[in-house]
Amino acid sequence: MADPINAFLHNTHIAYFTMEIALRSEIHTYSGGLGILAGDTARSCADLQLPVVFLSLASRSGYLRQELDDHGNQIDRPDPWDPGAWTEPLDAMIAIELAGRQVWIRPWLHVLTSPLGSRVPVILLDTDLDQNDPADRTITDRLYGGDLTNRLRQEAVLGIGGVRILQALGFIIRSYHMNEGHSAFLTTELLRHHPRPTNHIDSPPLLYDPEHVVERCIFTTHTPVEAGHDRFPYDLVEHELGSFIAIEELKRYAGSDDCNMTKLALALSGYVNGVAQRHAETTERMFPGYHVRAITNGVHVASWAHNAFAHLFTAHFPHWSHEPEVLFRADQLPDDAIWQAHMQAKAELIDMTAQKTGVRLDPDRPIIGFARRMTGYKRPELIFSDLERLEAIHTRHPFQIVWAGKAHPDDLEGKQLIAEINDHIAAMRGKIEMAFLPNYDLDIARTLVGGADIWLNTPLPPLEASGTSGMKASVNGVLNLSILDGWWVEGWIEGVTGWSIGTDLGHQGEHHASDLYDKLEGTVLPLFYEDRARWIWMMKQSISKLASYFNSQRMMRRYATEAYLR
Ligand SMILES: *Cc1c(COP(=O)(O)O)cnc(C)c1O
Repeated sequence: MADPINAFLHNTHIAYFTMEIALRSEIHTYSGGLGILAGDTARSCADLQLPVVFLSLASRSGYLRQELDDHGNQIDRPDPWDPGAWTEPLDAMIAIELAGRQVWIRPWLHVLTSPLGSRVPVILLDTDLDQNDPADRTITDRLYGGDLTNRLRQEAVLGIGGVRILQALGFIIRSYHMNEGHSAFLTTELLRHHPRPTNHIDSPPLLYDPEHVVERCIFTTHTPVEAGHDRFPYDLVEHELGSFIAIEELKRYAGSDDCNMTKLALALSGYVNGVAQRHAETTERMFPGYHVRAITNGVHVASWAHNAFAHLFTAHFPHWSHEPEVLFRADQLPDDAIWQAHMQAKAELIDMTAQKTGVRLDPDRPIIGFARRMTGYKRPELIFSDLERLEAIHTRHPFQIVWAGKAHPDDLEGKQLIAEINDHIAAMRGKIEMAFLPNYDLDIARTLVGGADIWLNTPLPPLEASGTSGMKASVNGVLNLSILDGWWVEGWIEGVTGWSIGTDLGHQGEHHASDLYDKLEGTVLPLFYEDRARWIWMMKQSISKLASYFNSQRMMRRYATEAYLR
């Protein structure tokens, strides 16, 4: 039988490297926004028939299955999945040297098929092989798992191993796209393909020629804070990678203090971009001297539209799934059809909430959705800043809140936030109906962004690089109420596509809680109860103005013409 990868070899020349990728809920190779973005990127590449192959890790034990104990504390469980059920093993095998040992890597192939039938290959790298030392078999086991040494090994397997696997499989790759800095070691593997003529006089002498690498690399950064960037001490790098690359040469690119993966990717990429306009500006300030472009993120509309909306769109705009731009005319859809679709999606969310938590929500009251990675800068606790005020608002205009989100196992602050939210939910039972859905994943996200009425986002600017869950909500006419940061700076038209919390001036955030209460009490909730026609008009504006633009089809057309065809 022919190797299943052969079908892709002749027409693929771009490789997209990502530490996580959300392909489907059964494949536990993602943790949050970065993985969802990679998944939506792959889905759009399939739709648009772009010549891209995706590389990630097998992560057999997944990221984290979240359980909650009786006090609402997160319990971390492994979240295993079976690569054999969703991928097929490929024959190629390569090794890299780590800590003086040969570490063998085997690829699994998942073929992602678009609704229209076109396909892209996704290759997942696995070190769980008999040939390997037991310590090395677990390198690719747990996404973002283990200590700093394991993190470095994971990044070496992805970056260095990924380039070698592509070569071993027979791909001829022209462009390498790094989704975040985790895969930046790929640049060092490419450097080694371009030794410098020995008659060059440099001090210190350079062994490799960076020009060829820069030409071929594209880097998308996602982290707007210095502390968020991956970095490794050089003695660890030296211990793990040995003589793979001269440390003095690596320091020229990755920084003199420690090996900063963002600096490495920046220094060796000819095209660098942030994931929203504001984020690109923040990144340029953080790394002076680099030109950072902006390609604002998008979501795969066909994957995030609730079935009821998908049917409605198909009836009016037959090609919306391939070309979501046509949704600009969604403001012409009939009001009752929009509301009916919404109530169907909302009923599903109410059922799921009852089933998972026992909390029965009321379909006639607005549901506020808040779901994302639980971590400090996302400030999920902001709405609880003044409980008396919150209850007073609820007395006049009742609302309900559904929460979801995981904290990274090492993020103690994030775990504390989950416990606090659950304390508030318990304390307000019988007053304000709220529920926390455990184990936020693709399926829960789909139901939540389909069936909420209001999508709340309260990050501390400028830390939300883009944010994508609000884009998913907009596809279903769920109205965004959000701090002006990331994508919302570009999508927000007050009282038309949604609402801001606070103004665009002054990012300090100390007034954000009262701004949130003012907006809820004075604008959002009264509109829901007192002017349903205007509310539905806004739902239509949201689909028409946001979903037609903040989609991954538009995003990938921009990557294709501006980054890949450079
Ligand atoms: C969309 C999504 C995210 C990212 O949401 P943000 O608003 O960008 O933080 C995280 N996790 C899941 C499961 C998602 O679907």
